Amino acid sequence: MSALKWFWGFLKKYRLLLCVGLLMTTAISVLSIVNPYVSGMIVDDVIAGGQLSLLPKLIITLILVTLVRGLLRFFYQVVFETCSQGVLFDMRDQVFRKLLSEDYSFYGKKKTGDLMSRQTGDMEAIRHFVALIIYCVYENVLLFIFALVMIFTVNTKLALVMLLVLPFTALTTWRQSKSVGPTFARIRDRFSSLNAFVQENVSGNRVVKAFAKEDYEIEKFNKENDAYRDAQLASSRVWMKYLPIFEVLSYLLNVVLMLYGGYMVIRGEITLGNLVTVNGYLWMLTVPLRMAGWWVNDIHRFLTSVEKIYATYIEEPKVKTPCTPVEHKRMEGNVEFKHVTYTADDEQILKDISFTAKKGQTIGILGSTGSGKSTVMNLLCRFMDTASGEVLVDGVNVKDLDLYDLRDNIGMAMQDIFLFSDTIEGNIAYGRPNCSFEEIHDAAVMADANHFIQKLPDGYDTIVGERGVGLSGGQKQRISLARALLKKPSILILDDTTSAVDMETESYIQEQLKKLGGNCTVFVIAYRISSIKDADQILVMDDGRIIERGTHAELLSQNGYYASAFHHQYGEIPAPAACME
Ligand code: ATP
Ligand code: MG
Repeated sequence: MSALKWFWGFLKKYRLLLCVGLLMTTAISVLSIVNPYVSGMIVDDVIAGGQLSLLPKLIITLILVTLVRGLLRFFYQVVFETCSQGVLFDMRDQVFRKLLSEDYSFYGKKKTGDLMSRQTGDMEAIRHFVALIIYCVYENVLLFIFALVMIFTVNTKLALVMLLVLPFTALTTWRQSKSVGPTFARIRDRFSSLNAFVQENVSGNRVVKAFAKEDYEIEKFNKENDAYRDAQLASSRVWMKYLPIFEVLSYLLNVVLMLYGGYMVIRGEITLGNLVTVNGYLWMLTVPLRMAGWWVNDIHRFLTSVEKIYATYIEEPKVKTPCTPVEHKRMEGNVEFKHVTYTADDEQILKDISFTAKKGQTIGILGSTGSGKSTVMNLLCRFMDTASGEVLVDGVNVKDLDLYDLRDNIGMAMQDIFLFSDTIEGNIAYGRPNCSFEEIHDAAVMADANHFIQKLPDGYDTIVGERGVGLSGGQKQRISLARALLKKPSILILDDTTSAVDMETESYIQEQLKKLGGNCTVFVIAYRISSIKDADQILVMDDGRIIERGTHAELLSQNGYYASAFHHQYGEIPAPAACME
């Protein structure tokens, strides 16, 4: 499907309304013929012919036609504006839904600012086209044709002379349209890039400040700004080059009419009234000629924007719910990885990962940074797919499950915490917006967040800034934990969730997590041995592999990576087990 066909899919819904609008536009164009014709009659029949009795009728006709045209113009503008807002509403909605269905790899490649400009600047170009350009072009084409027909009925010779200008206008319009197209594509690219840059600087403002890089960023911004301005100027230059030609061509018609029409009046080939009538039709010829370039611009802008939005829209997520998913709404929480490998950009991130987690068990995952711990959990949530091997939940491959069901059963406190600019209550209740306040409160108590939330000026109603600005790292972690706990999931994933809380808080949270009993399989990713020492099974990862596995005591006796991490964290105590067990 082409971008235009896709766009037509949205416009189609409003085709009846559009037809009504176009009918009104046609009526206006037809009515435009009347006034010049009546003016000619006033000159010939009333002024020159002395038929004064005709004057009141003619004047009433002039007034009535003007009033009806005004009314119609008001209504058809409302019609086209309604259509444009409708098209935009549907398109924004569909594009947003698609954006939400895109997977990790899509967001890994795209810049936020770029995606934002699809939903703002590009959508506006489409609105402008539907609300204005469709009827403008249609009305002016009609006006042009009607005016020509009327001039032909007045005098064929005069009409033919005036037609001589047409081929030059058509040629100029064609040449301008060829030059202006690429400049619009460039403007849209530069705009997206500028948007992306500003977005990154606003989001990363704290880093910019911390490194005192304001001057550096301003310099980079100026380059983006320059590039955008240059793209706009390049487009204006095309316009500036062709505008005078369109102006000259349209004024040429005035000159032709005055010289040749005047000459015909003197020779008695046409009446003065005929000249007044043709003069009245002249604007119907010159306006379309003068505006042709503008419309070519706007149509190009519209085409570029539709193509850009469509190109983003058609990117299909690789991770999708299968056509006939296995029905499994409430999961038990048995997890199994069978010889799983994961590859990204030709690099093998995970190699032959196999483990089993039974319902209700706690699995600790420890390992050096970049060893693949978060990737294992991302595969469990099916944020991406394995290159080989299987990830099974309750014996069913996650690829065969409905994505919504799978993720609905998993509560995840992510390593990269994201809080919405909403109240604390809203953030905790994100996964279950209809739950009672008691449940939110209980989840906050379990995550040891209730304590500090109550001390905030507005308690649970405190609005946290974008991404949780205004809260400390540990506070954000606890809100994120409460959010995951509130879901009452079958599988709970805590990725580095207690790294920023003190030991006392951590042990309190561990005690609380024990209350989950056997209903929830918990994965705890941590660097601190204290976070995972009580787990039923501990997996130690390095360079994408599981290098050790077992309980705390078993791993200590293996004297490998885990034991060495233990000694680093607790000192070279001869009998570490005595301290920890
Ligand atoms: P940390 O303890 O620092 O959180 P981790 O063990 O969670 O590390 P992962 O986030 O799983 O590590 O990343 C494992 C490796 O995979 C890293 O080397 C990372 O650079 C790489 N990686 C992760 N995601 C991608 C991706 N989308 N494309 C390419 N490489 C990736
Ligand atoms: Mg990680």
